Amino acid sequence: MAKDEVLECSFCGRKKPETDLLIAGLDAHICDKCIEQAHGIVMEEISQHKSSALTSELIVKKPKEIKEFIDLYMIGQDQAKRVISVAVYNHYKRLLQPASKEKEDVEIEKSNIVLVGETGTGKTLIARTIARMLNVPFCIVDATVLTEAGYVGEDVETILTRLLQAADYDVKKAERGIVFIDEIDKIARKGDNPSITRDVSGEGVQQALLKLLEGSVVNVPPKGGRKHPDQKFIEVDTKNILFIAGGAFSGIDKIIEKRLNRQAIGYSASIKKDKIDKGNMLQYIIPKDLKEFGLIPEIIGRLPVLTHMNPLDAYTLRAILTEPKNSIIKQYQKLFKMDGIDFTINETALLYIVDKAVEYKLGARGLRSLCEAILTDAMFEMPGSDEKEIKVTKKYAEDKINKSTLKKLKAAS
Ligand code: ADP
Repeated sequence: MAKDEVLECSFCGRKKPETDLLIAGLDAHICDKCIEQAHGIVMEEISQHKSSALTSELIVKKPKEIKEFIDLYMIGQDQAKRVISVAVYNHYKRLLQPASKEKEDVEIEKSNIVLVGETGTGKTLIARTIARMLNVPFCIVDATVLTEAGYVGEDVETILTRLLQAADYDVKKAERGIVFIDEIDKIARKGDNPSITRDVSGEGVQQALLKLLEGSVVNVPPKGGRKHPDQKFIEVDTKNILFIAGGAFSGIDKIIEKRLNRQAIGYSASIKKDKIDKGNMLQYIIPKDLKEFGLIPEIIGRLPVLTHMNPLDAYTLRAILTEPKNSIIKQYQKLFKMDGIDFTINETALLYIVDKAVEYKLGARGLRSLCEAILTDAMFEMPGSDEKEIKVTKKYAEDKINKSTLKKLKAAS
């Protein structure tokens, strides 16, 4: 009798020919089907364990540790990192406070955050990194697609649909997630004049957002949109969801400058006019500037933590290329390595990429497009060929940029 014929799975008893794979252990065998089933059980156990461990795990991370974690993925932006680390820490401390019926108990309020900074300065990255650290569901929504109920566009409730999707429809998980609302500045009231006829795209949406931000039970269409009129709603409590709103608030520097000039003239001048760093006005931002820009006071009140992102200088851009844990260059190295190709890039080539990003005003986002333009040919031609090494020099980078994509990049700037 052939040896194979007697082999069977020690768990389900299937004979080897009935399985796709039979793995041998010391005194036993296991088939692919049993492995799959066991994997399912393990994953379920882990997820149950995680949700109960989440609470105790969260308190362990102190603001300094939160910042250290963000540092791994993000260069610079120290002020924003500190402010956000504290806000996140306080938010999750708030989650841990036992529900109390006592009226006199101090209730910690939500610390939703508003991040002001030019596009490409890392607003999304910082929110994403925090979600990664906390292992909570995270979603990004674009405020520009939101409209008041009854108008063409998406109702604000669909924000929570996204979060539910990110949480695999686990409502409890979603209720402690993080939502990043991008382009919050685009729903600002046009002109700081509340008496103008109601502004559908702006103030109405801000009003609708209020109830989400302040914490209430919201009926969420599980599939989003209005295309599924008969779908059942899922109730989601937003009390413990952390909202981080980001926006470029283009033109707010003028508002800040005007205010600072007024202050500098007044008796209470705290910043002397000649000390103002005009290259980075956002560092002086206060909530009042957001109001002037067109956010309604109630929204500003529901986003009590305000911080800014600094513009990225050449030094920071250079660091972004190689230093973060999953930096762009490390990602290309990995991609090439998967084809057995050794990818290196020298310092002058890196500086050339930074120069171009600055020249085309592409910011950090541009670093990626530039690398892509430089490396697409190699990524197309090298896999499967005999070449096993690519060394990118400034000349190589320059040739590739000049050859194909220069015009496109210029047009995008
Ligand atoms: P924003 O949301 O402000 O428009 P993003 O967070 O989307 O900007 O950043 C754009 C790109 O630049 C992302 O790929 C991000 O990883 C990278 N980036 C931006 N700022 C930094 C930074 N300080 N450190 C590391 N990477 C950064």
